[in-house]
Amino acid sequence: MHCPFCRNPDSRVVDSRTSDDGLSIKRRRQCPECGRRFSTVETSSLTVVKRSGATEPFSRDKVAAGVRKACQGRPVSDDDLALLSQRVEESIRGAGSAEIDANEIGLAILGPLRELDEVAYLRFASVYQDFGSLEDFEAAITALRADREDAARTDLVDGSSVSALSAD
Ligand SMILES: [Zn+2]
Repeated sequence: MHCPFCRNPDSRVVDSRTSDDGLSIKRRRQCPECGRRFSTVETSSLTVVKRSGATEPFSRDKVAAGVRKACQGRPVSDDDLALLSQRVEESIRGAGSAEIDANEIGLAILGPLRELDEVAYLRFASVYQDFGSLEDFEAAITALRADREDAARTDLVDGSSVSALSAD
């Protein structure tokens, strides 16, 4: 691998470390020519199989670009999208296969997107899950509401246990 400082075509590995999640290896390298050090991160390649059967390497940028369309006019920043794409990649890599259907990427996007922005989630889900009618939207919104009420109920339980503690 080229030295990024002087373009010397050779470098020496001085340290290797596996990441905590076990999904990548970080190598510290030193250039024998200029003596400077730099790091490389090695991950297994992840191939996406499209509906047509064509394959391409997994790309976080493509995930972000796909989600960005659903986020138009919503309070979602580029940082939010970068973090979401990272979570999507981690969940896909965590599943452990080297080849995945494009469809599974859509599925992996739904969860984090729902936490990020419910409107964007509905837009994305309507395209990805091919909503064909108002009933499909209604069902998705009902599911979102039910989860929100569950979350509110949990907050209430937490709140009462906190006040019980402080009464003691
Ligand atoms: Zn160098």
